[in-house]
Amino acid sequence: AHLARIEAVDEKVHAFLHVDREGALEQARAVDARRAAGEKLGPLAGVPLALKDIFTTEGVPTTCGSKILEGWIPPYDATVTRRLKEAGVVILGKTNMDEFAMGSSTETSAYGPTGNPWDLTRIPGGSGGGSAAAIASYQAPLAIGTDTGGSIRQPAAVTGTVGVKPTYGGVSRYGMIAFSSSLDQGGPCARTVLDAALLHEAIAGHDPLDSTSIDAPVPAVVEAARNGSVAGLRVGVVKEFRGEGYQAGVMARFDESVELLRELGAEVVEVSCPSFDKALAAYYLIAPSECSSNLARFDAMRYGLRVGDTGGRSAEEVTTLTRGAGFGDEVKRRIMLGTYALSSGYYDAYYGSAQKVRTLISRDFERAFGDVDVLISPTTPTTAFAIGERVDDPMAMYLADLCTIPTNLAGNAAMSLPCGLADEDGLPVGLQIIAPAMADERLYRVGAAVE
Ligand code: GLN
Repeated sequence: AHLARIEAVDEKVHAFLHVDREGALEQARAVDARRAAGEKLGPLAGVPLALKDIFTTEGVPTTCGSKILEGWIPPYDATVTRRLKEAGVVILGKTNMDEFAMGSSTETSAYGPTGNPWDLTRIPGGSGGGSAAAIASYQAPLAIGTDTGGSIRQPAAVTGTVGVKPTYGGVSRYGMIAFSSSLDQGGPCARTVLDAALLHEAIAGHDPLDSTSIDAPVPAVVEAARNGSVAGLRVGVVKEFRGEGYQAGVMARFDESVELLRELGAEVVEVSCPSFDKALAAYYLIAPSECSSNLARFDAMRYGLRVGDTGGRSAEEVTTLTRGAGFGDEVKRRIMLGTYALSSGYYDAYYGSAQKVRTLISRDFERAFGDVDVLISPTTPTTAFAIGERVDDPMAMYLADLCTIPTNLAGNAAMSLPCGLADEDGLPVGLQIIAPAMADERLYRVGAAVE
């Protein structure tokens, strides 16, 4: 049924870069066989899923939204891919994304943009716009995204779906193509809080193949999602996340959510996190710095595209030609920014300062969580903007992640879930819930209560 739905609507939505029809049917049959053999399978056995094209899949093309990986077929599965298969989840295909997850609209994909199912002339968010659009257009009930600065939560917000960035280290990064290793985190996308929790538990947990993976029990997110409640909870409203640049319809739905939390028995207080104002600036030094190093592996020798390897050119020349042809403008912009920020003479002024801001942001969170159980804010300042509207204005594009980035810098957990439609445009608004590191279950307890 889901393959038929993809055939019927994805020509318009363009959520998928690759549909693995045969592979999906084979996986579905394998689940039937396991069940027939008496194997006790988990709750997601046989459930279809759309996988962001940043995760390696053995024998199935993986492009990361880039021309430089066109035609690359990974020889191994990411840990997330492997765990999904073990859980009997049926992987329908690979979803569209901003190139190397750099973007907030899926427009930097080398394979063309994805439409927002609510209005195909609008962006579905990014970088995981394909995953969010696949769910919102009923092409899959579940999807996987990655969140470096908001790429799970911001697409969830603008497509009216649920997205969770787990605590950093909660979900293995092995086989998840690296953008900014100290920020990247894979996580679940779904249409309900409970669906997201079931998927979260299927993919989370310690992995010796990822050195930053947390060796501790997975937070009990499914149990929390089944027992939504906020009675007696202290909820902090982040004071810095409102004002200029925030759409009226977004704030109206957010204020209603605050009222709802009060009615349900939460104590809501205002909390100030003064360093959050500098989060965007720090992020746009740290993420490009790490990406300039991570993307050095695309040297035309090891993966995918190779340009100009005839005519006696040197390896260096082939690398230069390939990177010039294979990377898009946004990726090049980030590599240049990062290389500059890390260069001697500038390192302390830029990268060093950004790391200090990162520490201040972590302290803001620590102080806040000394007083409240969770923090809340709108997920994004505005609803989905028009395709093309911000492509020539990187600063405007970067502002889409204003409310989501602090969590990545500090490494704690956050969820976006739908909280209604904005009056002025009828488009979905996201409510963001933020929890301390390794307290992911709080997101689900609160999310399930207000859903
Ligand atoms: N939009 C942000 C960026 O462009 C975040 C992307 C992400 O979370 N992968 O870097």
